[in-house]
Amino acid sequence: MNQTITVFRGDGIGPEITDVVLDILQTAKAPLEFEIFDVGAAVYEKTGAFIPEEGLKSFEKNRILLKSPITTPIGTGFKSLNVTLRQKYDLWANIRPAKTNPALPCRFEHVDVVTVRENTEDLYIGEEIEVDADTVHAIKRITRKASERILRKAFEFARENGRKKVTCVHKANILKKSDGMFLGLFNDIAKDYPEIEADSMIVDATCMNLVMHPERFDVMVMPNLYGDIVSDLTSGLIGGLGLLPSCNRGEDFAMYEAVHGSAPDIAGKNIANPTALLLSACMMLDDLGCKACAQTIRNALDQVFAQGEVLTPDLGGNATTTEFVAAIKENL
Ligand code: NAD
Repeated sequence: MNQTITVFRGDGIGPEITDVVLDILQTAKAPLEFEIFDVGAAVYEKTGAFIPEEGLKSFEKNRILLKSPITTPIGTGFKSLNVTLRQKYDLWANIRPAKTNPALPCRFEHVDVVTVRENTEDLYIGEEIEVDADTVHAIKRITRKASERILRKAFEFARENGRKKVTCVHKANILKKSDGMFLGLFNDIAKDYPEIEADSMIVDATCMNLVMHPERFDVMVMPNLYGDIVSDLTSGLIGGLGLLPSCNRGEDFAMYEAVHGSAPDIAGKNIANPTALLLSACMMLDDLGCKACAQTIRNALDQVFAQGEVLTPDLGGNATTTEFVAAIKENL
C-alpha cells in the first residue's frame, strides 16, 4: 500500500524544485501519495496563516513531511517557519550527510562527513531580551536532556552506518557551563561505544581543519547554531548548497528538506538545482523502507553527473532545471 506523505512547496525556488522532485518520485514509481500545500509569505497574504491549518493537520496525520525551503525575513518580521516546525514537532535530530561525488568539480576528492545537529535549542530558541535601547541579550539554552539524546543519536548513527569516529564540536573553552556540559556528556556517552573513536574540537578549529583536511572527519555532533554553520561549510566542500540533503527526526515525526534556503536570487529562472531536495526525498524513502527505489534514483542522478553534459549552473553547466530533470528521468 502506498504511504501518504505531506509536502510543503515552500517559496522562492521551493515550488520549482518541489514539483520536479515529485515528478521524479512518480516516474521512479515510489510507493507514495502526496498531500501538497503552499506555505510561506504569499500564502499569508491570501489566508492570514503562513502554514495552512490543513497542512499542519496533514503532517500530524501522516507524520512524514517533505518540505521545500521557506523565506525568513532578516532582522525583523516573523519567526522562522523552519525553526517553528522543528520545535513544534520536537524534530530534535538534524542529520546532514556531505559526500563528494567523483564526477563533480570540487576541491576535495574524499569528503564523507555527517553533521549531526541538535535541532531544538541553543541560540535558535530566538529568545532575545532588550535590556535597554543599546543592549540585547540572546539566550543560549543547552539542556542535559536535549544534549544526551543528540549525542547518543550521533553514536547510534555511527554504529548503524559503520562509521569509525564521532567528533564533538563545541566552544567549551569560552562557554564553560553550556558547551562544557555538552562536552562532558559527550565524553560520558562515548564510553558506551568503545568501538567508535571519540574526539572533540573547538568549533573555530573545526572550520579550519574541515577546509584543510576534510578527510580526517567522519561523524560530527554539535549544538544547533554550530551545526547550521558547519553543515553549510561541508556543502561547500562537496560542490555547493544545491547538493546537501537533510532529515529532521523526532520520536513521532520526521521532516526531510534541502539544507539550502529559498535562493531568491535565482527563483523563477528555471536554473535551481533540485538535487538536495531529491536526495532528501531519498533519505525519506530509505526511512520508509523503500531502499531500492531510493537507490534507483541515486543511481540515475549519478549517471547524469558522470555524463557531465546536463548540469545546472551551480555545478558549472548551463542546463535548465527542466533539462536536468529530464536527464535524470531518462536514466531511471
Ligand atoms: P540560500 O541557501 O537560499 O542561497 C545561498 C546561495 O546558494 C544563493 O546564491 C543561491 O542561489 C544558492 N543556492 C541555494 N540553493 C540552490 C540550489 N538548489 N540550486 C542552485 N543554487 C542554490 O541562502 P540565503 O540566500 O542566505 O537565504 C534565502 C532565504 O532562505 C532566507 O530567507 C533564509 O532565511 C531562508 N532559509 C531557509 C531555509 C529552510 O527553509 N530550511 C534554510 C536556509 C535559509
